[in-house]
Amino acid sequence: MSFLKGLRCRECAREYPKEAIYVCEYCFGSLEAAYDYDGIKQVLTREKIEKGPKSLWRYRELLPIDGEPTAGFYSGFTPLVKADRLAREWGVRELYIKDDSVCHPTWSFKDRVVAVALSRARELGFDTVACASTGNLANSVSANAAWAGFKRYIFIPANLERAKIIGSLVYAPNLVAVSGNYDEVNRLCSEIASKYAWGFVNINLRAYYAEGSKTLGFEIAEQLGWRAPRHVVAPAASGSLITKIWKAFQEFEKLGILKEKLNTSIHCAQPEGCSPIADAIVSKSDTIRPVKPETIAKSLAIGNPADGYYAKDVVMQSGGFAAKATDDEIREGIKLLACTEGIFTETAGGVTVACAKKLIEQGRIPRDESLVLAITGNGLKTQEAIQNAVGEAVRIEPNLSSFEEAVMKRPGVKV
Ligand SMILES: *Cc1c(COP(=O)(O)O)cnc(C)c1O
Ligand SMILES: [Zn+2]
Repeated sequence: MSFLKGLRCRECAREYPKEAIYVCEYCFGSLEAAYDYDGIKQVLTREKIEKGPKSLWRYRELLPIDGEPTAGFYSGFTPLVKADRLAREWGVRELYIKDDSVCHPTWSFKDRVVAVALSRARELGFDTVACASTGNLANSVSANAAWAGFKRYIFIPANLERAKIIGSLVYAPNLVAVSGNYDEVNRLCSEIASKYAWGFVNINLRAYYAEGSKTLGFEIAEQLGWRAPRHVVAPAASGSLITKIWKAFQEFEKLGILKEKLNTSIHCAQPEGCSPIADAIVSKSDTIRPVKPETIAKSLAIGNPADGYYAKDVVMQSGGFAAKATDDEIREGIKLLACTEGIFTETAGGVTVACAKKLIEQGRIPRDESLVLAITGNGLKTQEAIQNAVGEAVRIEPNLSSFEEAVMKRPGVKV
């Protein structure tokens, strides 16, 4: 049973068939999945979701596929961690980490969007899938396409972190490293997509792909006992995730699934060296001014964000705000989350932690209101960013006296 009606232009609301198309031919607006919400309301209840699979597919009625899912059976359904130690550090009352650093199978929230995109790619008859990626998407498309038996072409900026390159190559895709930044990779991929009949998950399948991010929002609400938190801080690259967390809460509200009236502010976190969306929010500007990225947070290094306007609108409408983190603050954020909550996040997570701290200090997020941080990726993938900021192991000879000399007799050590 499918509740996907078709695609609709986000600007002029013209309707389109549910194919691999992504721009409105009248106004060039981007297309979005449109659902039969009356139909969904007939069948979808909290109890039904609770009995569903322990993956993002428990929200299948609100995802843009026609038949049964064919990818990502173990993706999503990640922990919502009550972060009491970090809360104490910041003096806030109720803090949670939505921990997608442990999303299956490639340790980032991109496994959610790829699960949906590849299920839809199969329904639309593609035998080859592709993507333009800042790293995590490359890992996820490579892994999921290997499992699902698609041919795969993966395009990345050549200067990506080692672990993200190896974490793609291991699945034997056609990995293409472009000498240029993500925005140049993306432009090239748009050209390739118009020539080859491939399913580019974040280009011609983008309307389907992007909906996968809603499941992060659905899970937060379900895990809070069918309530949305007062605040969410989420990182932005293209800006899509921010818009979809908001859409998730709104859909749950519309379907009567939330137990309380929706009152959530979404806040945007970006690195100082690539902050076109945050800058527009802070300066109350209507235009997103493209930038040339220069940041250790490579997964967020999109200088010309496809969903920038929509992300800015969501943040403004919801009463949220934005903050930016320098490279040093990103490293501090990574270490703080590790030392308080035992969670090792990648640079994007460091941005989120650092920006949340600033928004709390500025009073944009009051200390007595509930707050969820979207931690979207895993620290083992971006080790070069902090390798010089975590100290060194104490080196000793394999004997007791060497141990006691080097470790136990250091100043300040009490036995
Ligand atoms: C892709 C990515 C983001 C940003 O996602 P958008 O939807 O493009 O804004 C955030 N965090 C990580 C770890 C990512 O890989
Ligand atoms: Zn249009």
